[in-house]
Amino acid sequence: MGSRPPEDLRKKVKERLRYYDDLRLGPYFRDRKPAETLGAAGRGKKVGAETPAAKTAVVPAPAAPTKPRDLTPGRPAPSASTFLPVVQAPSLFGSVETIEGDTLETIRADMGECTRCRLHKQRNKIVFGAGNGKASLVFVGEGPGHDEDMQGLPFVGRAGKLLTQMIEAMGLVREDVYICNIVKCRPPENRTPEKDEVATCSPFLMRQLGVIRPKVIVCLGNVASQTLLGTHKSISQYRGQWFDYRGARMIATYHPAYLLRNPAAKADVWVDLKKVMVELGLPLNSTRR
Ligand code: URA
Repeated sequence: MGSRPPEDLRKKVKERLRYYDDLRLGPYFRDRKPAETLGAAGRGKKVGAETPAAKTAVVPAPAAPTKPRDLTPGRPAPSASTFLPVVQAPSLFGSVETIEGDTLETIRADMGECTRCRLHKQRNKIVFGAGNGKASLVFVGEGPGHDEDMQGLPFVGRAGKLLTQMIEAMGLVREDVYICNIVKCRPPENRTPEKDEVATCSPFLMRQLGVIRPKVIVCLGNVASQTLLGTHKSISQYRGQWFDYRGARMIATYHPAYLLRNPAAKADVWVDLKKVMVELGLPLNSTRR
């Protein structure tokens, strides 16, 4: 057997695995214990008990990186000891959006007093999201600014006031919709969140969307739309177009902070919001615009 990895590496790996548990990804990756010590569902039990029958299975272990598998014809087949036990679970991509029994409260609890990325160092409050947990319409922004960080609520500063006006122009009030962000902690000096910060935080948003199951998601600005669409393209290239996001209709429009700097773009945003109203069956003539 190889030597034990250094303590700091073990700690990092432990933290990473705990993070995967917090994302409820437990049943979707190779188990840490040998098959004999696993129960029926192994580590998958925490979630596996709630998800379609997780069960142990034997699949080929990956070849050691230094010794590629010798596939020369005539060589003996790999021995049983080169096969490792794993928890077999439904496809990660097919079912991660439907974690049975998940709630906004559970997600918030899993997030805890998060220290998973560097953004926690300067934050005052985590801004989890606010509004109607059963909303048909969800707005997704980029990340909290100063006012949001102080209050722990999304979109309560200047850009937030404009978002409130946009919502009211649609004939709704803030309490009708759900509002959240890609990252839950304020980036210092309101800088754009970095790739690893988005990668660490956005799975919690995806769980939120999985629980709320809105009809329509409106991405506000580049960061939200690029993250949920998985693209590097600029929002100006696809703003106002409909996409599918795990069964919801999704549309991207300009961020209210951009509108504060470029008021002429408000006309484009209004065109996009009217499309959303049509999609939700909201009357176009009773708007308070
Ligand atoms: N900008 C955002 O993207 N989100 C907020 O919550 C506030 C400002």
